[in-house]
Amino acid sequence: MKNGGTKVQKTVAIHTLGCKVNQVESSAIAEMFKENGYRPVDFDQPADVYIINTCTVTHLGDRKSRQLIRRAVKTNPGALVVVTGCYAQTSPGEVLEIPGVDLVVGTGDKNKIVKLVEQAVNKNAGPFNAVTDIFKQNNFQEMPTAADSGKTRAFIKVQEGCNNYCAYCIIPYARGPLRSRQPESIVNEVKKLIANGFKEIVLTGIHTGAYGLDFKDGTELSTLVKQLVRLPGLKRLRLSSVEPNDITEELIAVASSAEVFCRHLHIPLQSGDDDVLKSMRRRYTTGHFAGLISRLRERIPGIAITTDVIVGFPGETEQMFENTYQFCREMAFSGMHVFKYSPRKGTAAADFPHQVPAPEKERRSKKLIQLGAEMAADYALKTVGKTVEVLAEQQVEGSPGHWEGLTDTYLRVEFPCAGNIRGRLVNVQVTEFRQGKLYGKIN
Ligand code: SF4
Repeated sequence: MKNGGTKVQKTVAIHTLGCKVNQVESSAIAEMFKENGYRPVDFDQPADVYIINTCTVTHLGDRKSRQLIRRAVKTNPGALVVVTGCYAQTSPGEVLEIPGVDLVVGTGDKNKIVKLVEQAVNKNAGPFNAVTDIFKQNNFQEMPTAADSGKTRAFIKVQEGCNNYCAYCIIPYARGPLRSRQPESIVNEVKKLIANGFKEIVLTGIHTGAYGLDFKDGTELSTLVKQLVRLPGLKRLRLSSVEPNDITEELIAVASSAEVFCRHLHIPLQSGDDDVLKSMRRRYTTGHFAGLISRLRERIPGIAITTDVIVGFPGETEQMFENTYQFCREMAFSGMHVFKYSPRKGTAAADFPHQVPAPEKERRSKKLIQLGAEMAADYALKTVGKTVEVLAEQQVEGSPGHWEGLTDTYLRVEFPCAGNIRGRLVNVQVTEFRQGKLYGKIN
């Protein structure tokens, strides 16, 4: 493509790193390229345009992003190599230094990526830095939906950015301030997804729980959820992650009364020690968190609560880690993601004293992962002998005639079935729990 235009259909290959929001945006980018006559191909195939949608949440994200950029340049030196995403937004200079990069696009301009690519091709020089100041973005940028029919679960982005500035987190610098999507636009997209056969809608964002607060008219996440749960044909509505402070009484009320609201919330705890929480700038205490969990369990019986925890935050002593361990055990989470703290340049905690040595972080992480597995098994075992509703997603790889899917409580269940039941809600009697998965038979 750098070597001149061609009459044959142009191709685009996209590789995505990082979180669900990035994946949703990559699908939207693919859709925009398709609308402009491009054909998406696999990333290891020759393509006219390579897009690397990067992540910067840890140093590993940066490193992986750089490796992928080099791989794209090597696969097809004549192609246009475009780098976007969080690493591109926070470190455009580093990205532009990699030989072969043609264009860098920030997180706030992903919706203009096709135009920027065409401009770069026409100018036939470069590299071009199209990254703009993310703090000047005031509105949510609409992107098209990739609503292939026949799918089962759809993730839709309802907001962008975060105003919280937790001490360890680079995301507000990569994504900018909170910008919520207009409710009408979300409702229309969900209606379209339902019409295309999707049974489950997952609301996602960078700080989903803060949805609507930037409208400053009383709108909040519960306002949106109330509108969505009423839509005819919607079978399940799930929230991807909600901060403890954002779970209001209104949200609990709609979650407990609407049948389609999945009995599952992912609520990041990050630490079970109040001093660490304060130093992380998390703005809640373990007392608040525990009260919230007990209210949720009272109002939504059987609810699955999953969480994220960071170990080895600067200043976390052995006793503080022990507090976290005990608190997590008390909370009886049904799933726990454990992260080892990794300093990010530009965040407050990167300069905090008393950084925890790597082997100690490793030890704490292993101990907590083990607890997470035990708690997950305890929760899952409670469903053995019961009948649960499963959204059949796909045939199990390597096991023809076996299907798997998720319960509303986010448990994966495998069961035999001869026909094609993709996208159907089926009742499965659970008979066994083995190696992190439930097994059963259709009722
Ligand atoms: S709430 Fe905290 S951890 Fe989450 S994106 Fe915002 S700053 Fe980062």
